[in-house]
Amino acid sequence: MASVKVVLRFPAEVSDKPLIYYLVKDFDLMVNILKANINPHKQGTMIMELRGDNLDDGLAYLASRGVAVQPLSEEIVRHEDRCISCGACTAICPTGALYIERPAMAVHFDGEKCVVCQMCTRACPVRAMEVRF
Ligand code: SF4
Ligand code: SF4
Repeated sequence: MASVKVVLRFPAEVSDKPLIYYLVKDFDLMVNILKANINPHKQGTMIMELRGDNLDDGLAYLASRGVAVQPLSEEIVRHEDRCISCGACTAICPTGALYIERPAMAVHFDGEKCVVCQMCTRACPVRAMEVRF
């Protein structure tokens, strides 16, 4: 049985639709939600593991509903020499892998918690967070 870990980005117009229910019901997929940040009428993000024999069809269904599907990559590396501790990445990191240590306000990275969703790579203004394939 095939499996894949993916990051799903839901546009605001479908964030309140039961798309995951249809993945299970219509495509017979097993869904393990690792992290979710979903609010009605707002853009949302979900990180999940999918298992089943109809993965491609299920992912194509999500894409047809406007959901951006991105496979989780291998590893995130942090270039500490570039980091200016602006904190932008800590606000969007869904697992707490990036966090601020108070009172020094230093930003730290816990690779054990990272699920390689890549959201920090987009948020970082100095490209301190990078994907290693
Ligand atoms: S890729 Fe970045 S934002 Fe995503 S879990 Fe890892 S550290 Fe957090
Ligand atoms: S967004 Fe980049 S520069 Fe800002 S704290 Fe995170 S890693 Fe450092």
